Amino acid sequence: TARILDGKALGARLQAKLAERVAGLGFRPGLRVVRVGEDPASGVYVRNKDRAALAVGFDSATIHLPETVTEAELLALIAGLNADPAVDGILVQLPLPAHIRGLAVLDAVDPAKDVDGFHPVNVGRLANGQPGLVPCTPRGVMHLLAEAGVSLPGARAVVLGRSAIVGRPMAALLLAADATVTIVHSRTRDLPAECRRAEVLVAAVGRAELVRGDWIAPGAVVIDVGINRRPTGGLVGDVAFAEAVGHAAAITPVPGGVGPMTIACLLENTLQAALARRA
Ligand code: NAD
Repeated sequence: TARILDGKALGARLQAKLAERVAGLGFRPGLRVVRVGEDPASGVYVRNKDRAALAVGFDSATIHLPETVTEAELLALIAGLNADPAVDGILVQLPLPAHIRGLAVLDAVDPAKDVDGFHPVNVGRLANGQPGLVPCTPRGVMHLLAEAGVSLPGARAVVLGRSAIVGRPMAALLLAADATVTIVHSRTRDLPAECRRAEVLVAAVGRAELVRGDWIAPGAVVIDVGINRRPTGGLVGDVAFAEAVGHAAAITPVPGGVGPMTIACLLENTLQAALARRA
């Protein structure tokens, strides 16, 4: 039966290390989280990020704007944060209201302060295999793979999902680590067969328990990014966990796997941005 990769514990260890480094810096890295409107899930995410940032010693604050804010007003706020020398990281929590163009907002963030790694400059650097700020969730997955003891060079890695936030940057990071990377998605012809080839399987589709136990090669390492709400309450991943534990060598639980690593990597990105800006 599979080893359970405890993201909560690993995230906590990472945060403790970050706190130690921050204490020795002589300044507090500055993070500003921008939230627009009243999306309830966003409220939870933003609170968790802010709390974690304060806990490691950052100067962190949430800027909460009303649903009715105009795009021009939001862009002006971001311009102010870009110009503020005390601010090292800027995160605009998605989704934004429909009257605001999300891409225009992401484009406006200074790439050097883009701790979500969503600015086209950082996306391009990652695609080119150059150093930069990379999206937090895939960065967290790389930590989990290291924790699992996976040797990536040459390994067959399959990424399920091709979103800009998870699937694509995940594939780019695995490629940068010299894995043999396949991306599968909603138009892939034989999903189970592609998954069975994987020594490393990363699922990021947002479909509850899509990946069945017999899609998993014996001894594979399975990372479940999915967060799906059960109709009966509670969270479930993209992988049928109870089946998968009988096939995989190691697997992340949902919750308590990738989720906590995402937040820890936001903090890591903010420290990285602060060190680069203030060098
Ligand atoms: P998305 O909806 O933007 O992308 C989903 C991808 O899956 C698409 O590329 C699509 O082609 C593919 N897909 C959809 N249905 C499919 C099917 N039936 N078969 C094969 N492929 C299919 O989602 P996302 O933003 O990438 O998020 C994916 C999941 O990860 C969601 O459950 C989300 O909540 C979760 N998530 C978790 C974290 C975290 O910190 N743990 C962070 C981001 C996203």
